[in-house]
Amino acid sequence: MIRKIKGTYDVLPEEINKWHNLETVMRNVATLFNFQEIRTPIFEASELFHRSVGETTDIVKKETYDFLDRGKRLNTLRPEGTASVVRSVIENKLYTEENLPLKLYYYGPMFRYERPQKGRQRQFHQFGAEIIGTNSPLSDVEIINFAATFLEALKIDKIKIRINTLGDKESKDNYRVALNEYLDKHIHKLCSDCNRRYKENPLRVLDCKVDKDSETLKNAPKPLDYLSDRAKMHFDQVLASLDQMKLNYVIDSNLVRGLDYYTHTVFEIESDLETLGAQATLVGGGRYNNLYSSLDGPDLPAMGFAFGVERLLLALEAIDSDTKKQPLHCYFINLGNPLETDALKIINDLRHGGLVVDYDFLNKSLKAQFKQADRLNARYYLIYGDEEAKKQVINVKDSETKEQVEVKLDELYQYLYNCLTNKSCSKSCDGCEGC
Ligand code: AMP
Repeated sequence: MIRKIKGTYDVLPEEINKWHNLETVMRNVATLFNFQEIRTPIFEASELFHRSVGETTDIVKKETYDFLDRGKRLNTLRPEGTASVVRSVIENKLYTEENLPLKLYYYGPMFRYERPQKGRQRQFHQFGAEIIGTNSPLSDVEIINFAATFLEALKIDKIKIRINTLGDKESKDNYRVALNEYLDKHIHKLCSDCNRRYKENPLRVLDCKVDKDSETLKNAPKPLDYLSDRAKMHFDQVLASLDQMKLNYVIDSNLVRGLDYYTHTVFEIESDLETLGAQATLVGGGRYNNLYSSLDGPDLPAMGFAFGVERLLLALEAIDSDTKKQPLHCYFINLGNPLETDALKIINDLRHGGLVVDYDFLNKSLKAQFKQADRLNARYYLIYGDEEAKKQVINVKDSETKEQVEVKLDELYQYLYNCLTNKSCSKSCDGCEGC
């Protein structure tokens, strides 16, 4: 038997409603904030991720799925969404003045060769949003607010917004010098991963999960102390706007995020819902003002976030989320051969009217058809055979009250509609609440 690849999983029909609900909330909140969806390919030229995510990041060094296509070009399955959005905006010249700021969102599978564990897969999904073409602190707040509102709409609470700033290029350069000086003296006290990261990208040492409580990291210089005046003003405005919106946050001066392209504001939102285990971060994001120009595009500042969808679903397991099964309004029970009556037409007419109807393909016995209707949780059984066809009527049985009424075929749709919406029929029928 061929089995699924390690770190991947199937979404089975019984779980699909959770996904659909989440996707509906996602699109609704995106619409409220006036973001538009963009869809990019799931694989790109490898160079795109090397130059954007960064050669020294764990993602590019150890986690990308790279392959040579038949033309011997090196391609990569996307490990994240921002790089592809940047490529697409540049390539399609979406950045005309009248288009800016662009407010885009994306949703889809991402691929990272990581050690699979709860909340960490090799194929996972991200929902991300980007505001492109403005450096306004208000756009930082719009992104953070969008992320927080989405969580609120999903009824995920117990959240904590952690925020920090890396400052502009000048601040980042000054900070790097100070951090290097400090780490030169203290790096030997930190873990082997930190020692490796220190050589490649010293900023990422601050992100270490192993040494996060060590005195060495606590005493390290912080980006906040090396901000240029401009960068400090930007951050102060972000915080003031968050305060005005009553969005609670904590400043986490060690938050740097794992990707190279961030400048200014970075943030993460985590939840302490117990189902998340060690993977408490639901969303991460920040400002990236140099990425467009570094990918040969125009000088466009931008700010974005990315949610891990699987982790959201884990978080939703902990709360009483509304993941109703797909309703089946009617199950059509054939007493004869449907080809000899107008059964298929009746079914089709109901479906065109928006009712969810299913029926048996296999000429099963009456008992077996009732059993199937119950298994599918049908609200009404529609019972139809030669006799009914002759009289142009149909028997409608309510699966809850077990009451059965004979309804004229040309009144069937209205009858069912009224019953399902708890209205009375246009004619007295004894079969629905209002009559
Ligand atoms: P990142 O692109 O690394 O900033 O990740 C953004 C979000 O995607 C994280 O906060 C996680 O929720 C999610 N995520 C990242 N990697 C994985 C993975 N391997 N499996 C599941 N979710 C992931």
